[in-house]
Amino acid sequence: MYQENHLCGLLARHAVLTPDHVFAYRPGLPNVTYQALFDGAEQMAAALVAQGVQPGDRVAVQVDKSIEAIQLYIGTVLAGGVFLPLNTAYTGPEVAYFLGDATPRVVVCDPAREAEIAPLSSARCLTLGGDGTGTLIDLLPVDPGFAAVPRGDDDLAAILYTSGTTGRSKGAMLSHGNLASNSDMLRDYWRFTREDVLIHALPIFHTHGLFVATNVALFAGASTVFLPKFDPDAIIAAMASSTAMMGVPTFYTRLLADDRLTPELAANMRLFISGSAPMLVDTHEQWLARTGHRVLERYGMTETNMSCSNPYDGERRMGTVGFPLPGVELRIMEGGAEVATGEIGVIEVRGPNVFQGYWQMPEKTAEELGADGWFITGDLATRDAEGYVTIVGRAKDLIISGGFNVYPKEIEEVIDDLPGVVESAVIGVPHPDFGEGVVAVVVGDTTAEAVSAALSDRVAKFKQPKRVVVVAELPRNTMGKVQKKALREEYSAVFG
Ligand code: AMP
Repeated sequence: MYQENHLCGLLARHAVLTPDHVFAYRPGLPNVTYQALFDGAEQMAAALVAQGVQPGDRVAVQVDKSIEAIQLYIGTVLAGGVFLPLNTAYTGPEVAYFLGDATPRVVVCDPAREAEIAPLSSARCLTLGGDGTGTLIDLLPVDPGFAAVPRGDDDLAAILYTSGTTGRSKGAMLSHGNLASNSDMLRDYWRFTREDVLIHALPIFHTHGLFVATNVALFAGASTVFLPKFDPDAIIAAMASSTAMMGVPTFYTRLLADDRLTPELAANMRLFISGSAPMLVDTHEQWLARTGHRVLERYGMTETNMSCSNPYDGERRMGTVGFPLPGVELRIMEGGAEVATGEIGVIEVRGPNVFQGYWQMPEKTAEELGADGWFITGDLATRDAEGYVTIVGRAKDLIISGGFNVYPKEIEEVIDDLPGVVESAVIGVPHPDFGEGVVAVVVGDTTAEAVSAALSDRVAKFKQPKRVVVVAELPRNTMGKVQKKALREEYSAVFG
């Protein structure tokens, strides 16, 4: 009954084959079997349809991580809808933009924010708390039994917003085929099976936790240790009975700071995967020394799903992201031509993994996604003679702090609007915990305290500068462009 719906047919395969197998072990809460997971997803689908969700309608969701939130994701897709997850850190004004742009039929938010979110759009507003209660849950029919809405390869399954470099966020449209093909391939490439127990501590509003971790586990019929957030104690407690973990580099650096991390603790583990931001070679080396395992680093982005990975059996080379994944074509371009081995250029990717374009932004889409299917990632990289790809930077000064993208321009625009401020430059510099920390360099008649205070309720916490400095002027080149490279060098040591 699921097969008519391309993605759900694959997500639910193991719910049909092994309904009693555990999908989620949850510390302090009952286990969730595959059967229970999909029963709940069907209830969600029925409730959404009863609220008027039609095929292609967006369902915007800003909720804490829970099994019910996963069921809402699957239920949306089952109902033929388009799942639109939003970072829980987004403020009211930020959410207002997404709702205005995506015009969802239904928005689901945390009960505590209902009064704030409901008036932002004409969408029906329902609530779901991290504890699995809320007005959405009150609407669930007693009997599941929802027949999947037919959807094919090319139909949209999700829109994920990636903050735009111009300050305007872009909604990356992902089809059933994009998501299904990537998970199908990753399961085999990384050897996930029903025997696996995956430590799942990533947020589920981002491609990493939602698609890479959740979809791959479901496609394999694997179990997860489903944690509401990154919590070193919970991960240490889970490790002896788990087999795999997916994390951002920050997970690894934080776990390395814990004395309980030993080869014995990690003896049952077969695979540690890292991505979403570069992992330092030093972190790779420490992890190997402390656990006996080589972290498998991979590379991807919201628009492309996963594009590169170090090999499962071959040499996992620290500091690289390995090779293009099966079915993914990758080229490194400069000035319209492929660069020579070892030279730097911009990564372009083509394959069934590549998204369908930006929601209602045909011009932006045309700039980055060619008619021939090649997508310009904006990531700078090199490829060596053996084919290993190394990311060397980001073409557009994107900052990645704690695994989350912060686009300088967006923060600069907010700062520049503050009283007394003349101009600003926002940069990312090395941070021992977050990979990169956000620094705002501000010109004007203001103080660091005033800027920080003003930003606290205007932008999400993860985007707020961890350091603000007020200076007399910004360094500029002869063309009048602010020299961010010079700023990054000047402030490279502010976080020690
Ligand atoms: P997102 O769309 O939030 O997943 O962010 C994607 C961006 O994260 C990519 O375009 C890269 O700049 C960066 N990224 C992801 N994985 C890696 C990695 N292993 N090493 C370096 N950068 C990475």
